[in-house]
Amino acid sequence: MSSTRRRFLQTLAAGSALAAGASQAAKSTRTPFDFSADIVVVGLGAAGAATAITAADNKAQVIVLERQPMATLRSNTRLSGGYIHCPDKRGSKKALLSYFTALFSGAYDSLPSVGEEEAVSKKMAQHWTDITPHLVDWLKSLDPDLKMLKTGGGAQYVNFPGAKECSYAVYRSSYQDVINNKTTTYNLPKSKATEGEALHQALIHGIQVRKDRITVMDKTRAVELITDENKRVVGIAAKNGGKTIRIAAKKGVALCCGGYEYSAPMRKAFFGGLPVAGWAFYGTIFNEGDGIRMGLDAGASLTKAGSCAARMIWAPPVEFNGMRIGVTTNGIGSPHSIVVNSLGERFANESLITGGITNNCFYEKACEQSLKTLTFDNLPSWLVMDETMFNSRQLANVTRSTVGYGFVDFKNNADALKKGWILKGSTIEELASKIAATGGSSARMKPETLKRTIDAFNADCRAGRDTLFGRSKSTLQPVEKAPFFAIPLFAGGSNTKGGLATTADREVLDWSGKAIPGLYAVGEIACGLNRGGAMLTDALVFGIVCGKKMTQA
Ligand SMILES: Cc1cc2nc3c(=O)[nH]c(=O)nc-3n(C[C@H](O)[C@H](O)[C@H](O)COP(=O)(O)OP(=O)(O)OC[C@H]3O[C@@H](n4cnc5c(N)ncnc54)[C@H](O)[C@@H]3O)c2cc1C
Repeated sequence: MSSTRRRFLQTLAAGSALAAGASQAAKSTRTPFDFSADIVVVGLGAAGAATAITAADNKAQVIVLERQPMATLRSNTRLSGGYIHCPDKRGSKKALLSYFTALFSGAYDSLPSVGEEEAVSKKMAQHWTDITPHLVDWLKSLDPDLKMLKTGGGAQYVNFPGAKECSYAVYRSSYQDVINNKTTTYNLPKSKATEGEALHQALIHGIQVRKDRITVMDKTRAVELITDENKRVVGIAAKNGGKTIRIAAKKGVALCCGGYEYSAPMRKAFFGGLPVAGWAFYGTIFNEGDGIRMGLDAGASLTKAGSCAARMIWAPPVEFNGMRIGVTTNGIGSPHSIVVNSLGERFANESLITGGITNNCFYEKACEQSLKTLTFDNLPSWLVMDETMFNSRQLANVTRSTVGYGFVDFKNNADALKKGWILKGSTIEELASKIAATGGSSARMKPETLKRTIDAFNADCRAGRDTLFGRSKSTLQPVEKAPFFAIPLFAGGSNTKGGLATTADREVLDWSGKAIPGLYAVGEIACGLNRGGAMLTDALVFGIVCGKKMTQA
């Protein structure tokens, strides 16, 4: 080996936060690879970690490529709330299977067509029935110090068959007995880590203890799948420190590199509404749709590509690549506040935006086009509140998400007001004029319209009934104590979840429905969920399924 090449490989190894166990591929003109493994996993969130760990436990040598440095890795998994669905393992498996069959088949939806083909949904439901009751045990097996805290949460869709009998349960990831953070969870020492931070640390611990079988190459961005003459995926090319490296994958490549929240072209291709200006996300900025692009280049097909776990969120004027970064927004639907469209009119029961099941699909309402004017009147919308509401809570979550993990510098409401991120008016009319001055769709907001909307809402509050949208009585407190405040709301949330079409075992399909040999996808890039927000559970369940499947290839 030349000394330059040796130096390059040494640099690469030094760049990895975790020890290298991968073998350098034998030099051959037929296989000009720099490294070789049984399985290459792209991305180190929940999906990538579960796939790599399971493959390693089934005796495979695994290389994980992660574009971020390990020391500051901020995946969506790490920024998350760390909620994991894990029904009681002593509960009825029959009921659980019925529940998950309903979830994946769509048979109990008002629009059954959103479900999977019967054979696929059956297998997906079986995987969830087999694996979810053991997820807490599986996570604790990665790090026995991890405590998983049972929440009061049950099955999300209470009318699905089996929902009541399946002993459904939801847990929160934590190394502490109680979750009560006031400041960021980012980099908390293990004994204090909670939520996504705890989940991330447990998964990374699971990877570290398998370092003889798993090599993590961080600061290494996968760019292109390598296929042979039969279109089988046999490896992957990646960029590391400006150099391109090629890695052979004997049993295949698993794309686990998240969705396309920060790809403007993909947003334009897949989103409704105003795909770039009208949307924002509050997860990592490092998911740019690379996996979907690489999959498409290798002949993969797409499914439900525009699907998201999203509603409406606040996005201050902080951008990445021309796209606003959102924050986890507190207080929508609370007393002393309403949401109006860019004309100053209410358009929905505000509680639906963040409440329960609609929390993960309200973006559909946000993106509605007016058939009268052909405008997107709800983009942006405005959360309008009085002083009582403004003083009652921070408008953004400061413990995790984009604020807690340093993507958005929100300190508190007062600081955001000073920065001009929150608008203030001593009267409703003044506030409306300031909103109109922001331009775009909101330039159409007339002070008298907003005043009329708020007067009508306040009258409904006094009468104890929301005559327009039936908002719950407990939230009907008037917007009346000056000064008044407003923040813009965009379609958005945590992540996209549509993408590459796969089998129930996560083999990626081409447009004729055939599996592309050697190519797999797990997590946001190919989410199995038609609805609901159990994204972490989806990433873990299918990571476990896929890691095993790949070792059998
Ligand atoms: C604030 C927030 C709260 C949430 N709360 C919950 C919750 O409580 N429960 C729940 O079920 N879901 C929750 N979610 C959603 C859930 O966190 C994600 O859907 C899930 O973590 C996705 O896992 P993943 O492995 O697919 O993606 P990620 O965890 O985002 O991992 C993808 C990784 O791929 C890397 N990557 C991207 N491109 C490349 C490339 N070309 N080469 C190499 N690496 C690459 C990225 O850097 C990233 O580290 C939340 C999300 C957010 C943002």
